[in-house]
Amino acid sequence: MDRRVLIALTAVVFIAMIAYGAVGMRGWNGGLSVAARIDPGVKDPPAPAIIVRDLDVGQGDATYIHNGNSRVLIDGGPNPRRMGFLLDSLRLNDTTIDVVILTHQHLDHYAGLLPLFDSRRHIRIRYFFEDKDPAAAKTLARLRDSILARVQRDSLDYRSTDDPCGDGKAMCSITLNGGAIMHILRPLPAPAKPNNRSVAVKLVGADSASFTMWLAGDAEQAAIAHFVSEGYPSNPGMRVDVLKADHHGSCNGVTPEYLALTRPAWVVASVGAINDYGHMHDQAKAEYRAAEISWYRTDQNGTVTIRSSGVLGSGYTIEPSRPGKDLNGPSDRHASARGCADD
Ligand SMILES: [Zn+2]
Repeated sequence: MDRRVLIALTAVVFIAMIAYGAVGMRGWNGGLSVAARIDPGVKDPPAPAIIVRDLDVGQGDATYIHNGNSRVLIDGGPNPRRMGFLLDSLRLNDTTIDVVILTHQHLDHYAGLLPLFDSRRHIRIRYFFEDKDPAAAKTLARLRDSILARVQRDSLDYRSTDDPCGDGKAMCSITLNGGAIMHILRPLPAPAKPNNRSVAVKLVGADSASFTMWLAGDAEQAAIAHFVSEGYPSNPGMRVDVLKADHHGSCNGVTPEYLALTRPAWVVASVGAINDYGHMHDQAKAEYRAAEISWYRTDQNGTVTIRSSGVLGSGYTIEPSRPGKDLNGPSDRHASARGCADD
């Protein structure tokens, strides 16, 4: 082969290797192709900075993560109009959301995902994860129709949380563009109640010493026991800086063992000021307090934003949009639900 051709070919391969990987999946064998894309009008945080926003969506969950050029949305809250407003204010129209995760099939987590598929918003989604369990709910059927239409038309990759990387392994690790890693962890197998089918996600900042977070939807105690029996305390490890309160601060979403394993400095509870469930439950708050963990809550503090520069030793900041630290909300009550410690 001509030497100049060889040099040119080597250069092309080298450039292709650099270009590969705005998002990379370990265990993924489908030849993920990606070009780093900078959307006009959106100011991306400098890699490796990470921003996590626990969005104020009322009684429900929605968490938006931004690292480098990568965007991730975990759940969408209960209200399409509210999430539509947030998509506008976060300037997510005309962008790519790399990963969307529906933790489990309850309305307060998926209804707000509908506007992502509104064609007028021009939002591209690359991966959508959910448990794919059969369900009768009409709104969920609508969401799934929208997902399947994108699979046909726009190469959306629709994945099951039971086999998140499609390789039979419990853990699928996704590297975001800014170097943060997101571990998606297989939930308690079906059949189980929807809450206990919640997928757990561990977010690790570009420098793991700077910031880590654990989010597990509405996982209750049976699901938490499953996380332990699956070995998640040792791989990927459950110790984190911030824990999103499971199940909106319900007493069945926490155990002393869970807090001993995660050992967060902060808990963030996503909860509506007026809710019929008594969230946050007094027993859950008592457990957080006993473990000397502070918390913010979206009903009192609004959207809670966590920022980390991702540089070794830089740590993170956690900032409520409404200052003040009212630890109690108007719907909080002592729960008598089964599975909660009776104090
Ligand atoms: Zn919920």
